[in-house]
Amino acid sequence: MGQKTIFQRIIDREIPADIVYEDEKCLAFRDIAPQAPVHVLVIPKKAIKSWADLGPRDGSLIGHIALVIRDLAAKLELAEGYRVVCNSGSDGGQTVDHLHFHLLGGRPLHWPPG
Ligand code: AMP
Repeated sequence: MGQKTIFQRIIDREIPADIVYEDEKCLAFRDIAPQAPVHVLVIPKKAIKSWADLGPRDGSLIGHIALVIRDLAAKLELAEGYRVVCNSGSDGGQTVDHLHFHLLGGRPLHWPPG
């Protein structure tokens, strides 16, 4: 067994986080280094390393998270729009090896990303 990721430690309540939503399948909390007025991370409780590691039975979990993100965007009053980002692997800029979705909003966001 490798070391727990920082996100697994948040799930296990070993370190604190500003949790904005939780259910039996996923957890959402504010990013510690926000890149926009609203910057929330939504993670599955299941330990999936990255987008590339999704299994054939994970489709309903990802569908569930998609709807959680939609509802969170409404709850966090992102009526002007928002961005959902999943960085995967080193070229994708992933720094924590536990699948996570960034929900960013509250200001106009630039495109393309760097
Ligand atoms: P990524 O670069 O896509 O892997 O995103 C990882 C994100 O996790 C970054 O935006 C970090 O700021 C954020 N992060 C790292 N540690 C914590 C923490 N303890 N609590 C909340 N967010 C964190």
